[in-house]
Amino acid sequence: MSAAQPLTGACLCGGVRFALTEPPLSASYCHCTRCQRRTGTAVSANARVKPGSVRLLSGEELVQWYVPEDGSPKAFCSACGSALFSRLPGEHEPTSVRMGAFDSDPGLRPTLRQFVAYAASWEQIPDDGLPRFPERRPTT
Ligand SMILES: [Zn+2]
Ligand SMILES: [Zn+2]
Repeated sequence: MSAAQPLTGACLCGGVRFALTEPPLSASYCHCTRCQRRTGTAVSANARVKPGSVRLLSGEELVQWYVPEDGSPKAFCSACGSALFSRLPGEHEPTSVRMGAFDSDPGLRPTLRQFVAYAASWEQIPDDGLPRFPERRPTT
């Protein structure tokens, strides 16, 4: 694994471009129903990042935040709908980046699976040996 420096990413239409000023901290898979709806897929791969380390290179005006009544606000491109970031409640900067948005190998791999109690019935969870948590991952 080798990470390009700086690590960059984009939405599908290319309107939103960003770079990380610091390498991601960790990564995980989320099987929650919100992630299923948000992505249209069985699971979402997310990289934790240090708040303030996501720098928008273009398309700031396209980034739209969906703020649910509870849970983490989620950012997407308003032109193409690509999922981009989320932030922990109370944070003003992204704390998580959707790994599919990265342009190249981010240099880390998801190390756990959370919310597996809600996993999609139509796709088997891979037998990859990663720790599985029925609900949210324990905070360390
Ligand atoms: Zn876009
Ligand atoms: Zn989720």
